[in-house]
Amino acid sequence: MSYFHARWLFDGEQWLADQYFKVDEKGCYQGCLTSQSNTFTPLGVVIPGFVNCHSHSFQRAMAGLGERISGEEGQDSFWSWREQMYHLVQSLNPDTFKQIADWLYVEMLESGYTSVGEFHYLHNQPDGQRYPDQTELATRLYDSGVETGMRVCMLPVLYKNGGLGKPLEAHQLPFGMTDLDEYDNYHQQLQAKVPEGFQLGVTAHSIRGVDKDTMKAFSGRYSERGIPVHIHIAEQPAEVEDSVAFYGKRPVQWLIEDIGINQNWTLIHATHVTDEEVSAMAAANAVVGICPLTEANLGDGIFPMKAFMAQNGVISIGSDSHIRIDPFEELRLIEYSQRYKLGARACLTRKTSVSPGLNLAAACYAGGLQSLKMNTGFLKDGFYADFVELQSDHPAMLREDPETLWDEMIFAGGRELVKNVFNGGKQVVFDGKHSLHDEKLEALRALYQVL
Ligand SMILES: [Zn+2]
Repeated sequence: MSYFHARWLFDGEQWLADQYFKVDEKGCYQGCLTSQSNTFTPLGVVIPGFVNCHSHSFQRAMAGLGERISGEEGQDSFWSWREQMYHLVQSLNPDTFKQIADWLYVEMLESGYTSVGEFHYLHNQPDGQRYPDQTELATRLYDSGVETGMRVCMLPVLYKNGGLGKPLEAHQLPFGMTDLDEYDNYHQQLQAKVPEGFQLGVTAHSIRGVDKDTMKAFSGRYSERGIPVHIHIAEQPAEVEDSVAFYGKRPVQWLIEDIGINQNWTLIHATHVTDEEVSAMAAANAVVGICPLTEANLGDGIFPMKAFMAQNGVISIGSDSHIRIDPFEELRLIEYSQRYKLGARACLTRKTSVSPGLNLAAACYAGGLQSLKMNTGFLKDGFYADFVELQSDHPAMLREDPETLWDEMIFAGGRELVKNVFNGGKQVVFDGKHSLHDEKLEALRALYQVL
């Protein structure tokens, strides 16, 4: 049992002054009263660890490599970036795959994330051959999480088709599963390997990657189990055009009308949606997983966040391609993209909060919990004690005024605010640096020599 006192503590919804709490044997938070007999570790400003709902860990190794013009000027797009990604996949094996994840999780923890949803689609060897243990790569990610102190929700991906009505292409074979039976079998094997406090959900890659009959069967088997169900959707205009041509419906419209979604679903991106689709997603109480830095980097477009939040839409954030790792920056970009688009300020406020910073942070903690279902993101009794102590000597932190603190942190601060990070009450980041930082950075340096 360890005991703490926070000068200010954000419990996931509001700021509380002078909070005493303990962490029990299971690594869970319990509020408590001060007592002479216990020694309380003093903390300054404390927030729950951020929930990162969408990660493809290996893509961290190509951050910054997909930025140059590769053909005609103005023609580079998501699709040319994707070619780079296929190229990287060809050079990975289980050891190098884990080394990238190790470093990524160190970096995420140093920036304030304490849990992550791994949208894991690299299942096979480069030529598509299955590993003798098909869960080989997924279990490496769990291992990385245990080693670094990052709580992992594995979201193994069903990826069956190479496009609407098309088989997988050769460079997609490392991701492929033959059918839903193979996926179910794989999922059952993985179920036996989930570390304590971690999670296992399911994922359909996209409406490009899973045909209609398989999607229906997938949804029928997994939608009502109370586990996370994720999908990439409507990220690019070309996907919308293909869907309209093939199904006669837009992707989100098709998913809602022909497949059916509920509160267990997280729709990643959902960038290109109509007003009707925005309302339908909000009414279904599904989470929309926004990845603002990746969506900006890939030139995806801007999600209509103001309209979605006005209808009580549920959101969470993801760092997706990991072009940058900074939850504060992701939140800032959500608000700024609306300001660019709408020509207005303080776009994402609610009647209950005039602060876009507080409003966004609270929305993402609640949405992150709903998206990954890992009992984290709140500092309340029974939740995992996954928390971040912030730097007290940064200009954004000097006032310590609960009215403006989140706005100062998001709009005038960033990941440099993170000082100490605890996962399940166990400290893993010390004054901005993870205990494995040097070791994992050296491994990455060696890896970059050979990739
Ligand atoms: Zn993604």
